[in-house]
Amino acid sequence: MSEIPFLQAVAVSKIYPGKQQAGVKKTGLIIEPGKITAIIGESGSGKSTLLRLLYGLLSPDEGTVYFKGERIWGPEEKLIPGHDAMKMVTQHTDDLNLFAKVWDNVAAMLPATDLKAKQEKTERVLKQLNMFAMADKRVADLSGGEKQRVAIARAIITHPQVLLLDEPFNQVDTSFREGLQHDIRQIVKEIGLTVIMVSHDPAEVLSMADELIVLNKGEIVEHGTPKSLYKHPKFLYTAQLLSNCNVLTAHEAHLCGIEISKEYAVIYPEQIKIKLIAAVKNWVVKQVLFKGFYEDLILEHGGIILRVLSEETGKYVEGDFVAVRVEKYLEY
Ligand code: ADP
Ligand code: MG
Repeated sequence: MSEIPFLQAVAVSKIYPGKQQAGVKKTGLIIEPGKITAIIGESGSGKSTLLRLLYGLLSPDEGTVYFKGERIWGPEEKLIPGHDAMKMVTQHTDDLNLFAKVWDNVAAMLPATDLKAKQEKTERVLKQLNMFAMADKRVADLSGGEKQRVAIARAIITHPQVLLLDEPFNQVDTSFREGLQHDIRQIVKEIGLTVIMVSHDPAEVLSMADELIVLNKGEIVEHGTPKSLYKHPKFLYTAQLLSNCNVLTAHEAHLCGIEISKEYAVIYPEQIKIKLIAAVKNWVVKQVLFKGFYEDLILEHGGIILRVLSEETGKYVEGDFVAVRVEKYLEY
């Protein structure tokens, strides 16, 4: 007995004409309902292309996308592109009416046949997204982050089954972003929404997603939970997407006191400790990057640069000499 997958891509490819042969290559995936799946990958790896294929904004050259077992039609086969049960929000949200109030922008997505329901639903979604206090403001007077909230409110008020987000928080400042991420998580829990998001912000995907899909040059190279991929990335590429990690050659690793048998050592900044008692202190503190409750120390020794996380803020200053101990590393 096989269950029908919620959203599934079977061997889809979309190669844009041109000599670079870029796009998405023979990709298969299954998206589970009621979860947040994040697609990560370097710029140009095909994230937006994959998202548009899943939504039906692009037709695959080969392969098929199925939503609950039914084929998703591409733009050539459908009058209004995009699957009716899905909504997409990108960073270029230009379909807002800037001169209308927040309330009217959101309410306008519902039919006027049942005014009471329209009123109630608009109020509920504005509250869910913490926008109720701004209901009477003109969209033109909102910040970038607030406009993104309106765009998301417009997308979810019609109760789509899938919400697709293509780097929608890029223009949103960090403090605002966390609130929005939290509210979206909350909505996913409350109404069982399925979210597929594209992001290149490690902090964002690690804290927000239930499942990560890693794209490299148009191919899915690995997938898993944020925790498992962070702890055991199969590829150096994945480690670099998820962390500001140190990548050292075997020779450089040797100078840090570790012997590896493969080509590269990957050391996360939190896996290096400053040794307090050491006979030789030969790493010099080049930079201290203040991060709030912690610091990133940029150390140098013999031409090797190390990024080390230090929780003891203010303890080290530029020019200090320290010794380090690598507590954990990965090899590639
Ligand atoms: P990402 O979202 O990961 O940055 P995209 O899916 O936008 O990547 O693009 C993947 C690759 O396909 C890139 O090399 C990009 O230049 C190319 N590409 C994207 N859209 C088009 C297009 N309409 N025509 C030609 N090439 C494109
Ligand atoms: Mg993109």
